[in-house]
Amino acid sequence: MIANWKMHKTSREAVDFIARIAPAAAAARCLVIIAPAFPSLAAVAAAVQGSAETSAHGLAVAGQNLHWEAEGAFTGEVSGPMLADAGCGYVIIGHSERRQYFGETDETVHRKVRAALAAKLTPIVCVGETQAQRDENETEIVLRYQFERAFWGMEEADFRSCVLAYEPVWAIGTGKVATPDIAEGTQRFLRHCARNVFGSEASESLTILYGGSVTPANVRGLLEQPDVDGALVGSASLDPTSFAAMIRAC
Ligand code: PEP
Repeated sequence: MIANWKMHKTSREAVDFIARIAPAAAAARCLVIIAPAFPSLAAVAAAVQGSAETSAHGLAVAGQNLHWEAEGAFTGEVSGPMLADAGCGYVIIGHSERRQYFGETDETVHRKVRAALAAKLTPIVCVGETQAQRDENETEIVLRYQFERAFWGMEEADFRSCVLAYEPVWAIGTGKVATPDIAEGTQRFLRHCARNVFGSEASESLTILYGGSVTPANVRGLLEQPDVDGALVGSASLDPTSFAAMIRAC
């Protein structure tokens, strides 16, 4: 269960949030990952460390983005080793807002996946179709292309260290959640793409998350689907009561 806070919460608000969801996270039989804005990473990592000790699954921290180089003259960017140093074990890559507003392409996603692995971070790779692409029956073509480009030329062992998130663009921040049937059908297709490239064992063990307008009211129906292994939550993860309810559902 991942909280993607986007450009929300100061360090103080973030730490307060962790304290409020810690009991639900400690009792949960799932991994709970918080993705705060860069300036709050260290504070969240410190807060999470205490909570993780009370649960085998516990809490972990993710960056929302990274640069594909380990260091260099890239003003305003943050690298994989810096995220790892700040306490991250994970990093979100290729979120549709990065693709839409910041020029992220399938090529940069691919480079970032490799950079994350080199820094020993687990990449959480986002793929998803737009409403227009779905209306034109292009969903599978688009997703297959995004999948194959992201993991192009990768060894199976590296692929096994990755997490995939199906995030239909039409569902993100719109209140228009995918039905459990749509999420399941599409995620089954993504698992099929993984099988084609990396074989059945790697595809069966792949974690595929669903993201897009997940709330406490709809999370259960989604998580009941066999190919929905967790959720990536934006807006509904900002409120600790709501996020704790989703952790409990998980
Ligand atoms: C997201 O940003 O990844 C997301 C799923 O947002 P929301 O839950 O607000 O649709």
